[in-house]
Amino acid sequence: MEKVALVTGASRGIGKACALRLAECGYDIVVNYNSNEAKAQEVVSAIEALGQKAVAIKANTADLKEVQNMFREAHKAFGRLDVLVNNAGIVDDAYLLMINEDSLARSLDINIKGYFHCAQQAALKMMSKKQGVIINVSSVSSVLAVEGQGVYSATKGAVNSMTATLAKELAPRGIRVNAVAPGFIETEMLDAIPEDKKEEYLKAIPMHRLGKASEVADVVAQLCSDAFAYVTGQVIVLDGGLSL
Ligand code: NAP
Repeated sequence: MEKVALVTGASRGIGKACALRLAECGYDIVVNYNSNEAKAQEVVSAIEALGQKAVAIKANTADLKEVQNMFREAHKAFGRLDVLVNNAGIVDDAYLLMINEDSLARSLDINIKGYFHCAQQAALKMMSKKQGVIINVSSVSSVLAVEGQGVYSATKGAVNSMTATLAKELAPRGIRVNAVAPGFIETEMLDAIPEDKKEEYLKAIPMHRLGKASEVADVVAQLCSDAFAYVTGQVIVLDGGLSL
């Protein structure tokens, strides 16, 4: 039986790249999405073209009931779960005095609560087999202060802390938990950044280029592999040197 990975927010960007890369590594994939069914189905077709099985399942990760339903559907489809990539996240930049209550709640709900919902459901499945890997997608903003990203960086700081704690709790159960903290990666998430700001960030990156979603996916796939069998609770920063 093939191993199975569930990737949240896999309809585009980093999640899509992780889903495709893990399929290339031989995993069957659960492609989670929130709103964009057509894009999620395109990812399913691309995975099937690689010779693996895939299903697209809609769930707002901020909603526990939807998450529970997604894991039930995933279990019906594949009967096992080996990897969770907690990736679905949003950014909504605002300076302190401009932070709006709805945006604050949405960021905390998706970027923090959503990660706990999925980790909890995944751990329930993985514990019975005493094996599994959880990868949390954090951000370089968790370790580097970027003006206007107070809320976003707080949520990603929470992701780093939960990674360490869950790694300690779940290690005796055979489950490893690690995080990746990407710098600026070329996805639709960067569309909101004005061009002059992007130029400024590019100058600050020692490698003078943005990262690619596939480069994040390569690290995620390695962290899932036995090459990292003794690594847990770590946050791997991949940012072209931005945070140095
Ligand atoms: P993106 O292109 O905006 O894609 C976001 C994905 O998350 C989409 O698949 C979207 O699904 C999904 N999503 C959003 N809210 C969701 C929810 N409530 N429930 C389920 N799915 C939801 O973003 P990205 O750049 O790939 O970012 C992915 C992750 O990497 C995020 O956690 C982000 O914080 C992190 N990250 C990104 C960068 C960067 O520079 N791009 C840097 C560091 C960290 P729909 O399409 O269905 O709406």
